[in-house]
Amino acid sequence: DTYTPDPSRYETMPYRHVGRSGLKLPAISLGSWHNFGDTGDFDTMRRMCRTAFDHGITHFDLANVYGPEVGSAERNTGRILREDFAGHRDELAISTKAGFEMGVGPYDNWGGRKHLLSSLDQSLQRLGLEYVDVFYHHRPDPHTPLEETMGALAHMVERGKALYVGLSNYDGPTLRRASAILDELHTPFVINQNRYNILDRHIEHDGLKDAATDLGKGLITYSPLAQGLLTDRYLNGIPQDSRVAHDGRFLHEDDVRRVHETVVQLNALASERGQSLAEMSLAWLLRDPAVTSVLVGASRPEQILDDLGALNNMTFSDDELGRIETAVGT
Ligand code: NDP
Repeated sequence: DTYTPDPSRYETMPYRHVGRSGLKLPAISLGSWHNFGDTGDFDTMRRMCRTAFDHGITHFDLANVYGPEVGSAERNTGRILREDFAGHRDELAISTKAGFEMGVGPYDNWGGRKHLLSSLDQSLQRLGLEYVDVFYHHRPDPHTPLEETMGALAHMVERGKALYVGLSNYDGPTLRRASAILDELHTPFVINQNRYNILDRHIEHDGLKDAATDLGKGLITYSPLAQGLLTDRYLNGIPQDSRVAHDGRFLHEDDVRRVHETVVQLNALASERGQSLAEMSLAWLLRDPAVTSVLVGASRPEQILDDLGALNNMTFSDDELGRIETAVGT
């Protein structure tokens, strides 16, 4: 079947400037860390991308390693872009990354120039694209000079293979140093990608959030639903089709047990607000001026539709914010 995007797709989604840059991203973006690899169902991937775009989600986030196997999320997304979105490249912001282990060879990991430049070329090939909108260094590399890594990002922009660059999983002090280097190189570094959600506040403590705000950089928050913990998914046990049950690489039964009390309390508050827990958890991030976009994952299109409901109420009373802090025990 051929796909025709919904003509009303731009009517409800807010688009926000990424920091002080000219790039705008949707308040909600879609990531392919899970469920887009070769172990996933291709038709579901395709329907998720269509549902997202039909509702104004113009930003798809990838990485070289997303799978399993590594590379397969880019390959599957590439097929969807080719088959469904061929006439719409200029309406999409596609990001990818390098910096985690792609293989066991000496040029398959971290932040050296050779790895980053060859990895982007491989990503473009898998995606079937000539350029990505944002290329990220995926994590800081303690054994490579920051100047070299930033120089590789600058080179990608000069070659027209990335329009903007971003940093992921950096802390505040390292971000400040990297940003100064990229300024000198006149490289459009615009965005940070870090984990941030009601349960995980580490970027408030490692200087990243303050540095991003000070420097006028955007922040896209990954795992905004704590991989599904901040939804109604695990309220009554562990469903067979959930990430904990069928994947288990990054989320475990222990994690579910550890946060159960908190999640029950948060879910009650969400109900009082007339929201699902997923909606409230995303709204909690989106109310924060430091946050440009929340980067959700999904295993089916219906979850994306539920997540979009967050946009209907993004304000919180002081009392509600206080109850969230009480629930998480801060
Ligand atoms: P989330 O916290 O959004 O978790 C997504 C999972 O939550 C889904 O797979 C689904 O679980 C569940 N879920 C989502 N919506 C609902 C809903 N409405 N109701 C019930 N359950 C729901 O994000 P991810 O951890 O998946 O990360 C999102 C993206 O962030 C990634 O795809 C990637 O692009 C990026 N990322 C970046 C990293 C980095 O280092 N830069 C690291 C990790 C992620 P289920 O599958 O069980 O149905």
